Amino acid sequence: MNAFKPHLRGLPSYPYKKVEARVKLDQNESPLDLPAALKQRALERLAALPWNRYPELHAEDVRARLAEALGWPFEGVVMSPGSNLLIQSLVQAANCVLDTAPSFPHYAFSAKTNAAPYRAVRLGRRFELPLEELLGAMEGEPGVLFLPVPHAPTGALFAPAGVEALARHAARSGWLLVIDEAYHQFSGTDYRALARSNPHVALLRTFSKAWGLGGIRAGYLLASPEVAAAVQNLVPPFGLPAHTAAILLTVLEQPGYATERAQATVLERQRLYHALLEHPTWSVYPSHTNFLLVRTPDAAAAFAGLAERGVLVRRQDHYAGLEGCLRVSVGTPAENDAFLAAAFALDEVGHA
Ligand SMILES: *Cc1c(COP(=O)(O)O)cnc(C)c1O
Repeated sequence: MNAFKPHLRGLPSYPYKKVEARVKLDQNESPLDLPAALKQRALERLAALPWNRYPELHAEDVRARLAEALGWPFEGVVMSPGSNLLIQSLVQAANCVLDTAPSFPHYAFSAKTNAAPYRAVRLGRRFELPLEELLGAMEGEPGVLFLPVPHAPTGALFAPAGVEALARHAARSGWLLVIDEAYHQFSGTDYRALARSNPHVALLRTFSKAWGLGGIRAGYLLASPEVAAAVQNLVPPFGLPAHTAAILLTVLEQPGYATERAQATVLERQRLYHALLEHPTWSVYPSHTNFLLVRTPDAAAAFAGLAERGVLVRRQDHYAGLEGCLRVSVGTPAENDAFLAAAFALDEVGHA
């Protein structure tokens, strides 16, 4: 078959494998489902819609609500079924892609599927922002720099001065700095002011983490009207399903919901972090997200030992610089207790 572009041949598929487990801490999901009363309201809203009709062309109803709630121009909001699709569209639009390493894998994956020139700059030893190296990499043809803040999969939070320096440089050199704020409710950070003052900065946000709505697929871009218009053209028309819109319009009537849920997760994260500081052979990194990165003497053994005890986490040891590392999502208090019990039951190579 020769119908497809040669760069797509033999491309490995997205690095995720579904595994069942009693305690599922592998996808940075919210441990709690939407409350039944809210679900019911969303279902009633959905039932009242004509399902034979297409939804809004570009989710105008949801964008209007978001624009109002966030104090952002309507023309600068792009909705999509998951921010992953927006990452893809941004990559498709970009001359080239600049990333940090390690980083959220979908930036590099999208660069591969789009045959976009791609470079990644290693984080510092304690996962600091490699500012000078990034500024150096921004010489030459401008493109899109993806920066998760707080950072995934390290959980680190970069100092604002570095992010602001990148934004200034982007404005001078024609780059677009995309700050991926997937986890911002867990760090209490918000780069809207920077993005408002600098059209070379755009923000990516998702309903998959603090909002606890990974299953309904919704994310959005906050950008200048010019950037938003270009990205909107790369998102399919009628792309946000009516059911997703109905659920979003319902939860957006409860603006404090995500913040409250995030606060509970942050308290559990702190409890887990302090407990893990006492682990005899693991070290835990400070986190500003809903997950913790831990370094173990042997990631494969630790992963297997946890799995034997019904606890599923995510291996991260395939990344350069993350040798021995596992990523653990913050769950419910009971799930976190199960994880801690399993973690402390492992000996230094990870086995029981
Ligand atoms: C989870 C996550 C996303 C969200 O992707 P969706 O497609 O909206 O579910 C985006 N960026 C980062 C860094 C993430 O960790």
